[in-house]
Amino acid sequence: MTNTLLILPGDGIGPEVMAEVHRIIDWYGTKRDLKFDVTEDLVGGAAYDAHGKPLSDATMAKAQEVDAVLLGAVGGPQYDKLDFSLKPERGLLRLRKEMDLFANLRPAQCFDALADFSSLKRDVVSGLDIMIVRELTSGIYFGEPRGIIEEGGQRVGLNTQRYTEAEIDRVARSAFELARKRGNKVCSMEKANVMESGILWREVVQKVHDESYPDVELSHMYADAGGMQLCRWPKQFDVILTDNLFGDLLSDVAAMLTGSLGMLPSASLGAPMENGRPKAMYEPVHGSAPDIAGQGKANPIACILSFAMALRYSFDEGAEATRLEKAVEKVLADGVRTADLMGAEGGTPVSTSRMGDAILAA
Ligand code: ATP
Ligand code: MG
Repeated sequence: MTNTLLILPGDGIGPEVMAEVHRIIDWYGTKRDLKFDVTEDLVGGAAYDAHGKPLSDATMAKAQEVDAVLLGAVGGPQYDKLDFSLKPERGLLRLRKEMDLFANLRPAQCFDALADFSSLKRDVVSGLDIMIVRELTSGIYFGEPRGIIEEGGQRVGLNTQRYTEAEIDRVARSAFELARKRGNKVCSMEKANVMESGILWREVVQKVHDESYPDVELSHMYADAGGMQLCRWPKQFDVILTDNLFGDLLSDVAAMLTGSLGMLPSASLGAPMENGRPKAMYEPVHGSAPDIAGQGKANPIACILSFAMALRYSFDEGAEATRLEKAVEKVLADGVRTADLMGAEGGTPVSTSRMGDAILAA
């Protein structure tokens, strides 16, 4: 099977961090004989500058075809005054929507060398490696009816939490598939004690488990208790499966367990394609960081770890993903730091490309 990859560096620090991923892809081709058929294209402000749209139809069509999309970041202050439909972020939203990427994967991984950056104590987070699977295309952010309505002489803000069996079923399958490639454990979080959608969520997740993934260890937890447990002893979890709203909250909590924004990768997965691989887009959690763009200061690790996720979840190269993650871990243990990772102890930060050099060497 060929490995097709669409790279969309985007705006701001996007192209800078992506340059380091290009070097890693070349390394895999020459040193490990692992080849990728790479196409590069524009998204966001860069696409708007070139053809007046944040994502061209041709780029959209290409994204639907490839095994994986790797995106840098979009946006910047120079695009703030554009019409809503032309804003760089619309390019990203169009990709997510048209590819129907319903499972958002946010790992919270804490490298030992950075454990003191966490909001929690070192022993609570050191070696942490959990994955939050958040349903991304339904739930209270999209449910109808919604709006601000008039009722009894006052205004009422209205949103509807709504999940169909099919929507729960498909995201549950993503979580169980992932768990099999990791620690083989899923904890599903909802509020079945007070929400109908939570009752259905729990029931469907259990059914998918019993019918298709009995080998995976499954537990259920109320989402509020889950938030508490995430702060108390996060290492008890492997994969956390949750809905759009709770996932939004819980993944931000989990991010703070690990420290810097420059370290956090993500993936958004959709339905399996004909070749069995899921529709997929990988991107760092951070934005285009206009404040440091063009200065060679950005930390490329979030983008590099996003590529590691692509290796594992799109290209079935789990061992190579681990190799790359171990290289990142070694470099951090050796004390190599971009500016965002400088702690109180001080020292001299390295540039984006020096960080890339160190990871390649490792
Ligand atoms: P967005 O709306 O796109 O999420 P944002 O302003 O919320 O943008 P970022 O663009 O991620 O967030 O920037 C937030 C802060 O983190 C900035 O000060 C930025 O310089 C810093 N930052 C973000 N990513 C990195 C990185 N990879 N390396 C170093 N610093 C970073
Ligand atoms: Mg932001």
